[in-house]
Amino acid sequence: MERCKAVFLDRDGVINAPVGLDDFGQPESPLCLADLKIYSFVGKSVRELNKLGFSVFVITNQPAVAKGKMTITDLADINSAIYHNIFLAGGDIVKIYSCIHHPDPAQVKFKELLKDCDCRKPKPGLIFQAAKEYNVDLSQSWMVGDRWKDILAGKEAGCRTILIKPIGEEDLISKPSFVARNLIEAVSIIKDETEAQQAQPYDLSVNYSHCL
Ligand SMILES: [Mg+2]
Ligand SMILES: [Zn+2]
Repeated sequence: MERCKAVFLDRDGVINAPVGLDDFGQPESPLCLADLKIYSFVGKSVRELNKLGFSVFVITNQPAVAKGKMTITDLADINSAIYHNIFLAGGDIVKIYSCIHHPDPAQVKFKELLKDCDCRKPKPGLIFQAAKEYNVDLSQSWMVGDRWKDILAGKEAGCRTILIKPIGEEDLISKPSFVARNLIEAVSIIKDETEAQQAQPYDLSVNYSHCL
């Protein structure tokens, strides 16, 4: 399999709107299909990334499964709806990787999901897993997210990073490569950077193709 370059997208706040705040004042994920509101520009944005030669993956923390607030079936329904929405707009998501663990015994309902795992952002475990499964060149790849955890995971994996619509100070402290208002702006940054890089003579020998 030829090496490909990827854009890793966080899910909540990037692809779909968060749903209010949880008990800790953090933006809450949709917990069932009825609560899922996918931003109108997402399909088009993913299609644009595909046209630029990027394989697109989603990397998401979904601890609500460990906490018993959402079933694994609810999560699968939401993720399927996201694939479908993007597919209808001509975009292609290769795979959605979800971490369903949480490390806090006080919050976790299912013991088998109580875990200080490597797949929960800010750890880069799921990005590394995708890179291994699909032969991704991480140095040519991007992580796009709306929280500091996304940015740290992306940096740790060796990707360039874009922070979308930062919520708090701690998000900016993560020092992303770029900041954007939404996914449309993030895609436009990636497009500019990709074209600038292609204009450099040393890069002409590199020939990437989409993974699929
Ligand atoms: Mg998010
Ligand atoms: Zn995990």
